[in-house]
Amino acid sequence: MQNKNRIKWLVKNSCACYLGAKHGISNYCCLQDSPCVFFAQDDGLLRCTYFENGVLPMDEKLDQEYTSERNVESEFKTAQPRVNCQKCAATFSAHSNRQKYCEKCRDKNANEKTKLRMRQMRKKQA
Ligand SMILES: [Zn+2]
Repeated sequence: MQNKNRIKWLVKNSCACYLGAKHGISNYCCLQDSPCVFFAQDDGLLRCTYFENGVLPMDEKLDQEYTSERNVESEFKTAQPRVNCQKCAATFSAHSNRQKYCEKCRDKNANEKTKLRMRQMRKKQA
């Protein structure tokens, strides 16, 4: 992560939750009550909501890098709710909150509905 040092710098200088050293913890974050996530040894793509909303916008360029590096927006777009099918209990990712059945059961349901409709039509004709 190339911009980690710049993130750290921004946290040190601008984050209201960053308190330097407190309770014997260095890089203490009062929001986490533990060291700030960006100062952890973990080199992954760390996230902090407070930082993203309250500190990061101050540095426009870093904001862009941070966002694209973490795919912040696309992550939200592709996040689909995991739902259990009400018929067969299989887990599937729903395209909407209203989806209650997995694709298999949905097809089955549609077939059954069509069958019923056909039966009723035939009754009327008879
Ligand atoms: Zn199902």
